[in-house]
Amino acid sequence: RGYQSVALILGVTGIVGNSLAEILPLSDTPGGPWKVYGVARRSRPNWNEDHPVEYIQCDISDTAETQSKLSKLADVTHIFYVTWASKPTEEENCEINGLMFRNVLQAVIPNAPNLRHVCLQTGGKQYVGPFELYGKIEAHDPPFTEDLPRLNAPNFYYTLEDVMFEEVAKKEGVTWSVHRPDVIFGFSPYSLMNLIVTISVYAAICKHEGAPLIFRGTKEAWNGYAIASDADLIAEHEIWACVDPNAQNEAFNIHNGDLFKWKHLWRILAEEYGIEEHGFEEGESSITFTEAMKDKEPVWEEIVKKNQLLPNKLEQVGGWWFADLIFGGPGIVTNLNKTKEHGFLGFRNSKKSFVSWLDKMKDYKVVP
Ligand code: NDP
Repeated sequence: RGYQSVALILGVTGIVGNSLAEILPLSDTPGGPWKVYGVARRSRPNWNEDHPVEYIQCDISDTAETQSKLSKLADVTHIFYVTWASKPTEEENCEINGLMFRNVLQAVIPNAPNLRHVCLQTGGKQYVGPFELYGKIEAHDPPFTEDLPRLNAPNFYYTLEDVMFEEVAKKEGVTWSVHRPDVIFGFSPYSLMNLIVTISVYAAICKHEGAPLIFRGTKEAWNGYAIASDADLIAEHEIWACVDPNAQNEAFNIHNGDLFKWKHLWRILAEEYGIEEHGFEEGESSITFTEAMKDKEPVWEEIVKKNQLLPNKLEQVGGWWFADLIFGGPGIVTNLNKTKEHGFLGFRNSKKSFVSWLDKMKDYKVVP
C-alpha cells in the first residue's frame, strides 16, 4: 500500500498521543493515507491495541537506545512530539525534556530524507511560567496571545522550542509548529496529567464510601469561567498544521472555543456517579485532593476488584497534585484568534466533550 505520509508519535499512549493514534490512520484524515509509528516506554496497553500503529518500546531519555531504535525509521515524514517528563525543579525539567527531544530529533532528522514537519505540543504554561512558580512571577495580562515575549523564568517549553529550532535548521525544507493547549480533556490512564480520570476516580471513591462529592478547590475556580482543550481537537489541530502551508513555522493556542464553569461540570460528574450531595462547601472544600485522598489506595483496590477494572494503581490514575493545581485558582485564558485567522476553525462543546471522555473511560473499564 502506498502511503502519502508517515507519522512518528512520541508518547503514543498519552492523552493526545492516543487520539493521534486513533485519528491518523483513518481513511479521511488530511494528508493521508498515513502510516503510523508510535513510541512509549511501557508495553502496549490493550486500550491502544486497536489502532493500526507500529508500536515501538523505547525510552527517549536514553540517547543510545533512541539512536538505535529511531534512526532506522527512514520513511518518517512527520514527527508529533506529545510527551514530557516531570522532575522536582524546572531546571531539571529543562534538562531532561531538552535531552529527550534532542535525542529524537538527532536520531530521525539525519536519517529520514523525506521528513517534512515537526509538531511540538507545549501548553499554557508558556504564558504563566512553570507550576512551581504559579502566582509567584509576574505573568502577562490575559487573554494570552502567541506573540507575547517569554517570561524571565526557566521554562521547559522554551527549552523544547529552542532545541527544535536548532535541530530543524540543520536540514533544509523541514517546517515546524508549536501547539499550546489548556487543560486537556482526553482518555489515557497513562497520562501524567489527566484531570477527567482523576476526578472520576475521586467520584468513584466518594460513591463507594457513601461520601458527598465535595469540590476541592477555591470558590474562584468553582464559580469562574474556565476553558479546556479536547484531545481529539488537539490532534486535529496538529494534523492541520502538518498539511496547511498557512500553519507552518508558527505557534498556536488551541482550546475548545467555549467557556464553562466547573460547578456545572461537577453536577454532571455527580449525576454520572449517582451522588446526590455535591458541590462547594466552605471549609470542607479547602481540604485538598492530595490531603483527602492520601490513604485511599486500599479503597481503590477494592473498587478495581469489585468492578473488574483495569489494574491501574491509585498513584497512577489519581493525579491529585494536578487537580489541586487546576482547582486552586483562576484558570488560564488563551486567545484563539491566531488559530482561526490561519484557517483552523475546529471547536468542541466542552460539556459534551467532558461527558464523552467520561463515558469512554467507563467503557474501557478505567473507572466504574
Ligand atoms: P502524557 O503524560 O499524557 O503522555 C506521555 C506519553 O509519553 C505516554 O505515552 C508515555 O508513556 C510516554 N513517555 C513518557 N516518557 C517517555 C520516555 N522517556 N520515552 C518514551 N516515551 C515516554 O503527555 P501530555 O500530552 O499530557 O503532555 C505533552 C505536553 O502537553 C507536555 O508538554 C504537557 O505539559 C502539555 N500539556 C498537557 C496538558 C494536560 O492536561 N495533560 C495541558 C496542557 C499542556 P510511558 O510512560 O509508557 O513511556
